[in-house]
Amino acid sequence: MTDCLFCKIVAKEIPADVVLETDRTLAFRDINPQAPMHVLVIPKEHHANAAELAVADDGLADDVLKTAHEVAVREGVAETGYRVVFNTGPGAGQTVFHVHAHVLGGRNLTWPPG
Ligand code: 5GP
Ligand code: ZN
Repeated sequence: MTDCLFCKIVAKEIPADVVLETDRTLAFRDINPQAPMHVLVIPKEHHANAAELAVADDGLADDVLKTAHEVAVREGVAETGYRVVFNTGPGAGQTVFHVHAHVLGGRNLTWPPG
């Protein structure tokens, strides 16, 4: 997608602080972190949101979750706990319509979220 911010990050047209790259996923630090560790995990292929990623049904959603967990391990929060969030739709706060998992950790995360 030519006009998608995260597709441009995948294409390296926009720089990002990449923490992990696999053949089908990319993980990079959020520009406006909401926790000491706040990384976004995306499929390199464009899908607008988690629902569209799920129906792609080719294992890509699994890959995104596996990368999210690997990021948590590498960042040292897998044992203490971390949160994976897919904001889906504008009412849930989604602002970038290339699906991304927020991986948050490094502080006590309260529930329910805001
Ligand atoms: P959403 O609101 O769609 O769930 O999450 C979008 C996230 O992307 C936000 O947390 C925002 O801070 C982050 N973001 C927006 N633009 C950029 C950017 O250019 N680079 C990076 N690394 N993160 C971005
Ligand atoms: Zn995209």
